[in-house]
Amino acid sequence: MDHFRRLGNSISIPIQADENGFTGRECPQPDCEGYFKIELGTGLKGEGLPCHCPYCGHTAGHDHFWTKEQIEYAKSVAMRKITAALHKDLKKLECDHKPKGAFGIGISMKVKPGRATPIHYYREKQLETEVVCVNCTLRYSVYGVFAFCPDCGAHNSLQILAKNLELVEKMLEMATATEKELAERLVENSLEDCVSAFDGFGRELCRVHARNATNPAKAGRTSFQNLEGAKSSLHDAFGIDLSAHVTADEWQSAVRGFQKRHLVAHKMGVVDQDYITKTGYFQAVVGRKIGIGADEVRGLVQIINKLAGHLSGDLEEVRKNL
Ligand SMILES: [Zn+2]
Ligand SMILES: [Zn+2]
Repeated sequence: MDHFRRLGNSISIPIQADENGFTGRECPQPDCEGYFKIELGTGLKGEGLPCHCPYCGHTAGHDHFWTKEQIEYAKSVAMRKITAALHKDLKKLECDHKPKGAFGIGISMKVKPGRATPIHYYREKQLETEVVCVNCTLRYSVYGVFAFCPDCGAHNSLQILAKNLELVEKMLEMATATEKELAERLVENSLEDCVSAFDGFGRELCRVHARNATNPAKAGRTSFQNLEGAKSSLHDAFGIDLSAHVTADEWQSAVRGFQKRHLVAHKMGVVDQDYITKTGYFQAVVGRKIGIGADEVRGLVQIINKLAGHLSGDLEEVRKNL
């Protein structure tokens, strides 16, 4: 039984990376089972490092993150190897003993080739966002946008925000090189993108940290399209002050920027009483179009960067102090 014995008591089946160098992974948590991909060898170096689920943050050894399809494939390859080895061993035992004498019994055994075990081939799935972790340089890809890095566990919210704000700055640059009407539209759009990027960032951060909140439900509902509203929500949910790390002037101009975005998005950019009340900017005239300058949006990008960095740090502090 040499062939079978030579297989030993473990068979290792290599799992190939896809055409882009990614290997599929699946979270072992039953209520998550999130699918993602990583490029092996691009992140943290070392043996036996754990893997973090980018969606739920679950942490376990890499050998717990095989996808169901990879396991089916490996099982089928192993089964084929085992049956092939058994077949060869049995083949050696083939015999054909002719009956001897008048009353002898003839024994023969013929091993016929059986049908080989079919291999369960699979293809890795297409995902939506590719990220290179700024912390550990792992290349990974996920559904959606936000994620924990599978290697170092760092959340990519600040990285995604920075990328979106970079695009805003590029849009503002384009605005300086184009005709007036289009330039105005580009500046308006960049203001909207700025606010959406911060809103997406803030909501994700609140979702990730909700379990550390004194009021998790409130944390989960926090919107960041209105800065004063976000400030009061964060205070109630986490006991932190969103405006604490910027100057009063910076805060005022950020609040005004966000309110201008509201006018652009919902009122065709025309000033209403609500705008004047919320910004305290009494020079504005109801019924007139609000003016937005590229420099104003650039300034807002900087303040948002500051707010975001500190918000992320403050929420981390809350978590550590629990
Ligand atoms: Zn998970
Ligand atoms: Zn990382």
